[in-house]
Amino acid sequence: MRDAEFFRRWMAATGAAVAREAARLTELDSPIGDADHGSNLLRGFTAVRAELTEEPPGTPGAVLQRAGRTLIDTVGGASGPLYGTLLRRTGKQLGEAAEVTDEQLRAALYAGVGAVAQLGGAAPGDKTMLDALVPGVAGLSTSYRAAADAAEHGALATVPMRARKGRASYLGERSVGHQDPGATSAALLLGALAEAADEASGGVA
Ligand code: ADP
Ligand code: MG
Repeated sequence: MRDAEFFRRWMAATGAAVAREAARLTELDSPIGDADHGSNLLRGFTAVRAELTEEPPGTPGAVLQRAGRTLIDTVGGASGPLYGTLLRRTGKQLGEAAEVTDEQLRAALYAGVGAVAQLGGAAPGDKTMLDALVPGVAGLSTSYRAAADAAEHGALATVPMRARKGRASYLGERSVGHQDPGATSAALLLGALAEAADEASGGVA
């Protein structure tokens, strides 16, 4: 079972990964965007960390809903409402239970990814965060590590794609040949989930 502490660790590990990779995320957002993805997420997850430590929510659902709301409130770019919706919808789906099973988390994330697709109107192949999130969540039926690997693979697979949603789509054919920043950060989110799970089982990341 996964308790609120597990979800706080997941968010903290995501924040640490974003801090580590912020420069690279912004660099990826330069040729096909406006060079702010790293700074957007760094601002968002710094605020999430403050929110979750000052007054730690007591349930898994509440942790994710608070994190999601904070991202929506603090991130100006498209990624704020999208990641915010992912976490809020996933959290809502988890309800008010003090602990949830891995299967409940998998199903909730599936719903969360569906909400991202609905909000942004994108589908896999459009060169967005969904190209990492969709295979990532599918990988959860195997293991957290498999999910992280699938998301990483999905992010790399955006390189030859032509963007059909978001800022990168304005470039048309010129968006080909660049890795999507949002798919890259989505792989960090799922990598952080695998880290939190490794930690919980006493394993080495
Ligand atoms: P902005 O594009 O407003 O500057 P960011 O740079 O923070 O916002 O985030 C850009 C990322 O957001 C893209 O790389 C892409 O993965 C994701 N994104 C943009 N639009 C959409 C959308 N409609 N659906 C899903 N993801 C999207
Ligand atoms: Mg941007």
